[in-house]
This record gives sequence, structure tokens and C-alpha cells, in this order.
Amino acid sequence: MAAVRPRTAPATRAVHPPDPPPVLQRSPTPPLHRATSYLFESMAESLDLRAGRRSGYVYGRIDNPTADAFATAVAEMEAVNVAGPVEGQAFNSGMAAITAVMLAVTGAGAHVVAPRDAYGGTYGLLDGVLSRFGLAVDFVDPTDPEAVRAAIRPETRVVFAETLANPTLAVPELPVLAELAHAAGALLVVDSTLATPVLCRPLEHGADLVVHSATKYFGGHSDAVGGVVVGRPELIREVRAARVATGGVLAPDPAYLLRRGLSTLPLRMARQCATAATIADAMTRHDAVLRVDYPGLGTHPSHDRASRLFDDERFGAIVTLTLRGGKEAGSVFLDSLGLVAIGTSLGGVSTVAQHVASTTHRQLDPQALAEAGIGAGTVRLSIGLEDPADLVEDLHRALWAIRGFWRL
Ligand code: PLP
Repeated sequence: MAAVRPRTAPATRAVHPPDPPPVLQRSPTPPLHRATSYLFESMAESLDLRAGRRSGYVYGRIDNPTADAFATAVAEMEAVNVAGPVEGQAFNSGMAAITAVMLAVTGAGAHVVAPRDAYGGTYGLLDGVLSRFGLAVDFVDPTDPEAVRAAIRPETRVVFAETLANPTLAVPELPVLAELAHAAGALLVVDSTLATPVLCRPLEHGADLVVHSATKYFGGHSDAVGGVVVGRPELIREVRAARVATGGVLAPDPAYLLRRGLSTLPLRMARQCATAATIADAMTRHDAVLRVDYPGLGTHPSHDRASRLFDDERFGAIVTLTLRGGKEAGSVFLDSLGLVAIGTSLGGVSTVAQHVASTTHRQLDPQALAEAGIGAGTVRLSIGLEDPADLVEDLHRALWAIRGFWRL
């Protein structure tokens, strides 16, 4: 017999309708849990949850089930050929993820070795923010193990690397970096945003923590910002504590979109990488282009390493062009594109181009830009899912618009 509902006024009934029955069937997609707080059956239950004696949810800034579903799915993809459990934590951006890692495993007096061509936000975080709190950082060429070895000191806690550097697409020798870090008692932390677990899983190569800007390929549709960190449970516990302390939780709505994006990630990556290879090849044969950075090209300095570390001869979906004519040529080229939009970010279904020195790497001074292999005419293309022939035609049209710089 149904319970008798107490006599209450309409305002109360509006706030307290009957609970829907629990859903007993599994669904093909994880549900979206938007609640910002949870209700408890008893005082004892609430205290147990808060004290961590029982697992569950308390408050939306601390955890939410949708973010956890996303983080668990990423951990599952990264944990191939890894002994022991791998867990994940989701964040409201890639930068929040990297910040939490640094807060979790470094501190005042600690030292980090980072790539000199690191994503500008990472460079800025280490050089401009955390350095003010007593963290020392050396930026080195991550593809040169001797430079990394020379930079490591007794206080080094982290060797930071990017699987595919942005925008030169250099690939570091991850197993060697892991050895160097571990010999010094440090962790290897790898930002694998541009590779995704479809191409490479750094934990397999000795990394301790892997971070991603999920905003890019995981979401894939340019409609959700997020980040994620995966690694062994004892490290992830520390990373979670830093996230909880700084309020970097991934909200349920973007978590839902990012989790959904993962299902098509392998298919999107396969197609985007294949189109990128076609475009890189076409661009190497154009007189307007001084240099094409794409690790799938035999001429790229990281080609052999990428072939070893990446699956299925796939080399990512970013192609970097350095045009004759410097910034002016780059600017006319971008303005002359029709199908390809001028756009920031990467990893979405539509192809975008941007001028590197004035956007992603604006935090780097001219010397750091030169050392990172970024010229005034460097333009980064994030290849999407359009027909490859249409993209090549659009790029050729824009290169023709800058013929004054190369048809001398
Ligand atoms: N790491 C890399 C390689 C990136 O390209 C980006 C963003 O462009 C980030 C980290 C930061 O990610 P988010 O923008 O999600 O904070």
C-alpha cells in the first residue's frame, strides 16, 4: 500500500514531489547527475561519508558521479599493459588538472624539469605563478636526454613532458625520461593531450601521471572544457586532494559530453590522423612553405621515435606550417582561408588554423620562441573531419593568396 503523504501546502509539494522509482536497468550511456549536494538517510551516514569511511557523494564541488564516470573511462583507456590499478580524476580544465598535479607532488623548494616548448599555459603556470611560491623550474629540450639529465637536481620532484609537443610535434623518448626521473626519485608527468590514448599511453612507457586537456580530442566537438589526470591510486589520491582544495571539479554537464566524446575518439582520431598525413604530404611539396612539422613525415626529427611509441603508424592530427614571409604572410594566409576557420584550440571536428607566436605561445619571449622552433610565419593547423581534398584545396587557395612572398 502506498504511504500516506502528509497534508502539505502546494508550495511544499512543489519542492518535495515524490521521488521517482530507482532505475534498475542499465543504460547505454551513464546518467547525467546535476545535483550540487546529496541527501543522507541519517546523521551517521552523513558523518561516515564526510570522513571517507563510506564511499559516496556529499557536495558537488568535491565530486560528482558524472565526472567520475568520465575519469574512470579515461583511466580504462590509458591502462593498457600496465601492472596494477589505474584511477583517474576529472577537472574543470586541462590547466586545472596540471595545477593540481603540481600542487600535489611539488612544493616550496622543489624543482621541476619541463619542456622549453611546453604549452604556453603550462609554461606560464610554472614560470609565472608557481615560481612565486618557491618552485624552481628549468626548461630544457625534452628530446635531448642529456639536457634532461643535466637539469635534474636532488630537489627535482617532477620531470614534465608532452607526448607530442605543441606546435613542433616533437616526441620525447618517454622510457628514457621515466628512467632519468625515477633514478632521481622524481615522477614523470606527461601531458598527452595531442596524442590521446588512441596513439600512445604514457603509463606503458613508465610515466607516473598522465594529464590531458579533455577540451580537445576527448570532447571532440568544441563544446566542453575539461581536464583529467590518471595514474596509480596512491598518486591520484594526492591529486584529488589538491583538486578538492582548489575547487577544480569538472561540472556534470561537460563531464557528460566528454564521456560521450570518448566513445567515438578512436574513430575520429583514425580519420583525423589520416587526413593530417595527406595534408602534411601536400604541404611539403608547396614552395610557399618553408617547413612542415608532422611526425608522420620521414624528415621529421621525431619520426622514428613516434613510429615506435605510437600505435598503427598514426602521428596525430596537428600539422604545423612555417610559411615564407613571416608574420605578414601568416596573417594574409589565415585571412584567405575559406573552409578552414581561424580559431583557437584544437581537436574538434572542424579544421582550424592559428598563428602560433601570437596565440598559444605568446607567453614565450623571442629567444624561447626561437629555441622552441617557432617562427614568425608558423601557423598551426588542427585537422578535423572534413573531406581531405576540400581541405587541401582551401589551403592551396590561401597559399596562392600569399604568392607575393614566395613567387619571386
Ligand atoms: N595542454 C595542452 C597540450 C594544451 O594544448 C592545452 C590547451 O590548449 C592545455 C594543456 C590546457 O588545457 P585547457 O585549455 O583545457 O585548460
